[in-house]
Amino acid sequence: MIELSKVVRLAKKEKFYIGKSKFGQGLFARRNIALGETILKFTGDIIDFDKAILKAPRYEGDPLQIGKNLYVNLEPPGRFVNHSCDPNAGIKNDVDLVALRHIRAGEEIYFDYSTTMDEDYWVMQCGCGSVHCRRVIKDFKHLPSHVKRKYLELNVVQNFIAIQYETTATAK
Ligand SMILES: [Zn+2]
Repeated sequence: MIELSKVVRLAKKEKFYIGKSKFGQGLFARRNIALGETILKFTGDIIDFDKAILKAPRYEGDPLQIGKNLYVNLEPPGRFVNHSCDPNAGIKNDVDLVALRHIRAGEEIYFDYSTTMDEDYWVMQCGCGSVHCRRVIKDFKHLPSHVKRKYLELNVVQNFIAIQYETTATAK
């Protein structure tokens, strides 16, 4: 176990780079990334909803929601990860970006912003180009139920959101 974490730390530097995306800047794989591999850890100051609004008055994806009134004010490189409705990565443990499939060197890395959103506030237009594109990105609760189930099963929904679904599932 100790050796593995050392390897992960050493590999961290070369895993991604910031490059030009059709969405401005984006995060790209520097080398092939295996399914299940952690790509980066999102970091930044913890802020509340009122501060998050000031950072992104119209949703720009910078603050990452981790609780009902808690956000990580993302710093680079995490803030450059763009949204896709058909993502190749997802967030586990609220802050770990993990590959949901094999990602080839040079591919842009995305997660689905709806897996982190539950605030009845931000809405984002999407032109990700996926055949599954939802066009308007909103809170997790608005996702089609099969998409919700997929993300919950993959364990890539923020804990404060996922727990709402576990409770309803076990209470009935
Ligand atoms: Zn889309």
